[in-house]
Amino acid sequence: MELADLMRPIRAFSHVLGAGKDELFDPDERSRQIQLTASIGAVVGLPFALHNLLVSGLIGVGLTELLAVFLLIFPALLLARRRMALDLAEAMVLLAAVAIFGVLIVYRGVQGTGLFWGFLFPFVAFFLKGQRRGWRYSAGYIVLVAMHFFVLRRYLSFAYEYSTSFGVHYLEVLCGFTAVAAGFNLLRTRFEEKLQKRVTERTTEAKTYMEQLQYQATHDVPTGLPNRVELVKRLRLEIEQAASQGHGIAVCNLQVLHLHELGNVLGLAGADKFVLSIAEHLNATVQHRATLARTQRDEFVVIYHLDQLTLEPEALQKYIEQRRLSVEVQGYNLRVDFTFGVSVCPQHASDADVLLRQAEQAMLQARKSELPWVLYDPAQELAFQRHHLLFGRMCEALDRHQFELYLQPQIDLATGKLIGAEALTRWTDMIEGSISPMVFIPIAEESGLIGPLTDWLVQRCLEECSKWRSEGLLLHLSINISALTLLSPGLVEKFHTSITAFQVPAELINLEITESCFIASPERSLAVMWQLRSLGFKLSIDDFGTGFSSLSYLKSMPIHELKIDQAFVRNLLSEAGDQAIVASTISLAHNLGLKVVAEGIEDEATAYWLAKQQCDIGQGYWFARPMPADAFMALAIRGRQTTEQLHALEQTP
Ligand code: C2E
Ligand code: CA
Ligand code: CA
Repeated sequence: MELADLMRPIRAFSHVLGAGKDELFDPDERSRQIQLTASIGAVVGLPFALHNLLVSGLIGVGLTELLAVFLLIFPALLLARRRMALDLAEAMVLLAAVAIFGVLIVYRGVQGTGLFWGFLFPFVAFFLKGQRRGWRYSAGYIVLVAMHFFVLRRYLSFAYEYSTSFGVHYLEVLCGFTAVAAGFNLLRTRFEEKLQKRVTERTTEAKTYMEQLQYQATHDVPTGLPNRVELVKRLRLEIEQAASQGHGIAVCNLQVLHLHELGNVLGLAGADKFVLSIAEHLNATVQHRATLARTQRDEFVVIYHLDQLTLEPEALQKYIEQRRLSVEVQGYNLRVDFTFGVSVCPQHASDADVLLRQAEQAMLQARKSELPWVLYDPAQELAFQRHHLLFGRMCEALDRHQFELYLQPQIDLATGKLIGAEALTRWTDMIEGSISPMVFIPIAEESGLIGPLTDWLVQRCLEECSKWRSEGLLLHLSINISALTLLSPGLVEKFHTSITAFQVPAELINLEITESCFIASPERSLAVMWQLRSLGFKLSIDDFGTGFSSLSYLKSMPIHELKIDQAFVRNLLSEAGDQAIVASTISLAHNLGLKVVAEGIEDEATAYWLAKQQCDIGQGYWFARPMPADAFMALAIRGRQTTEQLHALEQTP
C-alpha cells in the first residue's frame, strides 16, 4: 500500500472534521462572536457565582466564578467591543470557561450537577476558534480533565473523589459532546461558506452589470467609440489641457453622407459593418493626435489637437483630403463621403457644449451649401438663430391666421385692361412688423412649412376667385408654387379637390413655377406638370432668364406663359443688353406659342416699350402695388364699370 493510498481516508476524515477549512471569520465576525460568548458567560456566570457563594455554600466555586467573570470575561468583552487584541480576548474567554467548568468538575457542584457544565467547553472552543483550532483546544481540555480525574485529584484535598470507572465514563461522554460540537460547528461553517459564496457571486454579477451599464451609457455599442456623453467629458479635459499647454483644438463634426440610402441597400447589419469600418479607419488615421467619438447614427466627432491656437483653412483642407476613404462591405467597394463642420478652441469658444454646437452648425451649413466642409462663422450663427426664431413665429402665425393674401394686378399691355392678379403672401409679425416673403419663404421651404402655407394660400385664392365669379368678374389668378411643393406627394389630388369644392374652373388658375424645379428632379417635375395641365391648370415659368440656361426644355413642357424676370425689366430703357434679351425672349415665347409677362414695370416708358415689343401682360408698381384682396376686387369692379361706360359711349350714335 502506498503512502498516498494511506493518506486518502485520513484526508477524507480530516475533511469531515473540518481540518483545512478556510478561516471565514474576519475581525468583525470574531469580535461579534467574542461579545456573544462573553455576554452569555457573564449573564449565566454571575447569578450562579452569587448563588454558590451565598446559598449553596460552595465558596471555592463561587469565588472562582466571580473572579473569572470580573478578571477575564468583562475585560474580554471590552477588548472585543473595541476590536482590539482579539486573540487575547478569545484566550481570556476560553480561560474563563476552563476555570469555571474546571472548578465545577473539581467540586462536582450541587449534587453533581456541576459536571454537566463541563460538556459545554468544546462548543465554546469550536465557536470561538473555528473548526481546526477548536479540535486542538477541545483535545487540550479533555487531557486536562483526564489529568484531574486520574492524577491531580489525589493531590487536592478539597477535590471531590471520583471512582476511576466514573472518570472513564465522563471522558467518553465528553469526547461524544466534542464530536457533536464539531459537527454543529461544521454545519454552521458550511452554511456560512455557502452564504459567503453566493454573496460574492451576486456581488460580482452586480459589479459586471454595473460596469456594462456604465459602458453603454458612455459608449456607442457597435463601434465601441465614446458617445456624446463621454465626448463632452473628454472634450472638457482636452480644453483644460490645451489651455495649460498653449495649443488649440479643432472640433470636427463629420456626417457620413447617404448612410440611410446605403442602409437600405446593405441592410441594418451591413450598414453597421460599414460604420464600423469607417470608425476603424478614422481611428487609425487620427491615432493619438485626436479623440474620435460617434455622436449619432451617421455622425462622428473628431477632437483634433492643433499646434497653434487658430486653424488655417488650408491645413484643414489637407487634413480632410487625407481622410477620403473607401470601404469594402459585402463585396461592394463603397466610397465614403463626409461633410465636415469645424469649430476651434479658443478661436470660437472654450466651452465643450458650445464648441460641439458650433461644429454641428457649421456641418449643417456645409451640407446646405453642398460644400465638403465649413469653418464655423459667428455671423452665420446669427442667421441660424434668426432662422429658428422666425420658424417658431411662422408656426404660430399659421395657427393664428396671421398671413394675409395680397394681390398684384396684371394688365393686358395691348388694351390696358385688368386681366388678373398674382397672389403674394404678406406676414405682419406682432413684434417685428411686416416681414418680406424674400425672408420667410426660404425658411418655409427649408423647414417644410411651405406645405401648410401653400395649402392656406390656395384656399384663400379660390375663395377670392369664387367671389369674383359671383360678381361676374372673369379674372385669372397666378399662384407661386415652390419646387418642393410641386414635388410633394398628393399635390395634384389636393388641387383637384379644392377647385371642385370651390367650383372654380382650373383654367383661371395659373401656377408659377421657377426653373429651379427642373434642376433637382426634372422628370418628376415634368410628370406633375403634365398632370396639372390635364386638369386644366395653366402653368408659367417665373423669373425666366435667371436659372436654367438651356432653352431646349421649353418645348417639352406643358406651359402657356413665360414671366421675364424683373432684373431684365428694371433698367430696360437704359440697358441695350436687357432690351435685346427681353425682345428675343418675347419673340422666342411667341414662336413657341407662349404668352409673355413682364414684371417689375415701374414707369410708363417701360410699359410703352414692352407694349410696342408685343409683350402680352405687364405687372409692376407703375400699374399697382400688391394690395389686399378686398381692395383688388373693388378695383376690378370699378374697372369693369369704366369699361362698360366706355362701351356705352362707343355704342351711342
Ligand atoms: P415673385 O414671384 O417674383 O413676385 C414678384 C415680386 O416682385 C413681389 O415681391 C412683388 O411685390 C414684387 N414687385 C412687383 N412689382 C414690382 C415693381 O414694380 N418693382 C419692384 N421692385 N418689385 C415689384 P414680394 O411680394 O416681396 O415676393 C417676393 C418673392 O417671394 C416672390 O417673387 C415669390 O417668389 C415669393 N413669394 C411671395 N409670396 C409667395 C407665396 O405665397 N408662395 C411662394 N411659394 N412664394 C411666394
Ligand atoms: Ca411669381
Ligand atoms: Ca418673378
